[in-house]
Amino acid sequence: MDRVTLPSPSKINLYLEVLGRRDDGYHEIASIAVLTELCDTVTLERRASGITIGVADPQVPSGPQNLCYRAADLLLRHCGITAGINIQIEKRIPISGGMGGGSSNAAATLWGLNLVYELGRSREELMCLGGELGSDVPLFFSQGAAFVKGRGERVEEMPALCPRWLVIANPGIAISTASVYGRLRLPLTSERAGIRMRALFESGQEDAALCCCFNRLEDVVLQAYPAVAELKQRMVLLGASPALVSGSGPTVFGVMKDADMAERVASTLVETGVRAVACRTLDRNPMFAVTQ
Ligand code: ATP
Repeated sequence: MDRVTLPSPSKINLYLEVLGRRDDGYHEIASIAVLTELCDTVTLERRASGITIGVADPQVPSGPQNLCYRAADLLLRHCGITAGINIQIEKRIPISGGMGGGSSNAAATLWGLNLVYELGRSREELMCLGGELGSDVPLFFSQGAAFVKGRGERVEEMPALCPRWLVIANPGIAISTASVYGRLRLPLTSERAGIRMRALFESGQEDAALCCCFNRLEDVVLQAYPAVAELKQRMVLLGASPALVSGSGPTVFGVMKDADMAERVASTLVETGVRAVACRTLDRNPMFAVTQ
């Protein structure tokens, strides 16, 4: 195979607790994350040598700083391959939006490169390599829902949720994750609420679980960025239940009753200049459907 095109899904955090700061500078977290239908597209094509990146969005680096570049470089070196790869990225996931776009693109690159060069590496091995690139990368090797621990690299697969309609909205600003953690004043925290929420999901009580959605970073983001607070408020007034900041923001997602409601809420927000889309949570990772 010379070329492969892969969907590269985004994630939202239904639960995110920060448990403390680690000696290595990272934060210890506990999170429940689900993948969503809002996907970038990553296309990989063999080339004789070198790694090249094509991406139209000027906010995304096209050189060695791109996570896809680093992913390709890592796997090619790991497997002793001297040939190169061209990677085209079509962005739809908001950049620096708290939806893990770059990490997902890196996971898609590892998965795609494994196919294009017939490297025969297992999902577990690719996931482990992904952990060297960034804390969120391993999550994108899960099927749909996962309980995430450590600095984000310890991923415990959860049973898939029934697909839920969401509206994903972005006020058009980028927030660096490091700046949000920098502002966080941490009280005494525990992952107890997350464990309870996971148990509710695993026993099929999804509606009850969704009532427990929580993000420790949300208050920091809402206070520092009034546009995000306003967006969350609007989402609640439009009937989202719940509406929550994803990760370190500024993306706000709202859970909707059905497709009609999701389309209606998304169009209402779009009419006032907000970038918003209706989409569902995923119950399987679309990247795994691409096997040749
Ligand atoms: P993070 O928590 O890592 O900030 P995020 O989901 O909030 O993740 P991303 O869209 O992944 O945000 O981008 C974070 C940063 O990574 C941006 O500054 C961006 O320039 C850089 N980046 C590197 N590679 C990519 C990529 N393939 N797609 C998007 N951003 C990338």
